[in-house]
Amino acid sequence: MSLRRQLTLSLVIILVLFAVNVGTHFWGSYARNESMLAYRNSVSAAQLSTEVEQLLEDQRQQILILAALRETTEERLGDAELQRAEDALVVINQKIQKLGKLSRGVTELNYDLLWQSSSNLLKRWLKFYRSYNDPTFQMNMNDPLPFLQASQRLSELEQRQEFIAAQRSDIIDRTIDLTDRITVIGFFSSIFLTATLGYFLLSYTNTSLKRLKKGTERFGSGDLNYRIDNIDDTGELGDLADAFNDMSDKLRNAIYDVHKARDSADEANAAKSMFLANVSHELRTPLNAIIGYSELLHDEMDDKSEINRPQFQQDLGTIIHSGRQLLALIDDILDLSKIETGKMSLHCETFNPTVIIKQACDVLAPLLRSNHNELRVSGLEELPALYNDAVKFRQIFTNLLSNANKFTQDGHISVSAQEVPERPGWITFTVEDTGIGITRDQMSYVFDAFVQAESSTSANYGGTGLGLAISRDFCMLMGGSITVESEIGVGSSFTVLIPTDPELTHAAA
Ligand code: ADP
Repeated sequence: MSLRRQLTLSLVIILVLFAVNVGTHFWGSYARNESMLAYRNSVSAAQLSTEVEQLLEDQRQQILILAALRETTEERLGDAELQRAEDALVVINQKIQKLGKLSRGVTELNYDLLWQSSSNLLKRWLKFYRSYNDPTFQMNMNDPLPFLQASQRLSELEQRQEFIAAQRSDIIDRTIDLTDRITVIGFFSSIFLTATLGYFLLSYTNTSLKRLKKGTERFGSGDLNYRIDNIDDTGELGDLADAFNDMSDKLRNAIYDVHKARDSADEANAAKSMFLANVSHELRTPLNAIIGYSELLHDEMDDKSEINRPQFQQDLGTIIHSGRQLLALIDDILDLSKIETGKMSLHCETFNPTVIIKQACDVLAPLLRSNHNELRVSGLEELPALYNDAVKFRQIFTNLLSNANKFTQDGHISVSAQEVPERPGWITFTVEDTGIGITRDQMSYVFDAFVQAESSTSANYGGTGLGLAISRDFCMLMGGSITVESEIGVGSSFTVLIPTDPELTHAAA
């Protein structure tokens, strides 16, 4: 459950408990008030009943005396006495009526009975008073029945009221006891629940926050693979952990990318430094030859002795060869910078690949002889004409053949070609040698610019690490590709796949 939900739930539970407590308090005080009112009524009614009983008794005594006097004497009642007697009866009647008002509900039946008997009695007594002075009036006032009846009803009502009062008092006690208990239980439950909820909430939040803190510390101390995966929360803390993990992933990838970029920048820097060293070496060798031979010839010209013409011509040839070597190197560098800036374009023409490859082999012949290598050519006779860039095609094979010869001593170099049966219009050309070979690892970077298979290659074989990079880029420009297979000490095989027309590549794409 989310932290927000847990907090809301806890708050609702505490509020409910609080409401129960307050409700119980109000209900208790209402019930107490009700019972107290009823109790007071019952007590007042019981007191009033006693008072009425006393008044009835007094009145009865007075009437019995008067009845006896009327029998024995001729004396009659004066108006004032009559009035006082009637007033006394009215007071009794009013008190009985007041008793009626206090006798609602369970004592109503007892009161009705009292009312009937007391009305009869009071009417009888009133009639006695009013007819007292009438000598013909006869009434047996000694008959105790009406009085006893009223008195009986009155004491019944009184008992009933006392019983009700006792009952109400009991209810009040029990209500107070019950509300006290509910209030105390509710109060302690609220405290207990609040404390329990607070404890769980705090320990849960603490644990989750500790895990988050541990995650950030571990990540901050360099453990980029650390992830927070043990937070059991679908809410805010879970979201926070997910956001942290997301951020960690992105940060780790970014750091990885930066390291990679830094490594490749370092590599590129190292490769360029090595390239500079190689290039300066490659430049210096032909330049030294040009300068050395030129000085030699210059001195020879100053010499008065006869010029050795064949030797002179041979030295001039060395100067020309070195100059061409220099030009080729500068051309390579220019080609690569053109490729890298995207300014290298194709100049398509129709040409015969066999002718160009054979010319490249012819140019290579003297070098082949100096390394004691044998050249074998096959499959070139039945090739179709290509519509592509002939200059680049020539350069690719010049590079491949020159490399094959450079890294092979006393071996074979084979050049073969064939159309690809499953891809009409595509031809593969293979230049294979039995030279030093390259490792699987080296195969993955020999096509990169300024790179040689080993740092010792330049010292042992010369070169700048540009030939294969240019060949690969030319192959791609021409719509084809170049691959290598090799085994250390056995030899290498470079395969060039070229379309007869670059449009075929676009159509295939
Ligand atoms: P360079 O030959 O001027 O050094 P390249 O780009 O032509 O530059 O070749 C890059 C590297 O690939 C070479 O230095 C060499 O280590 C390796 N390589 C190329 N061709 C061969 C081959 N036929 N046999 C063995 N190694 C080769």
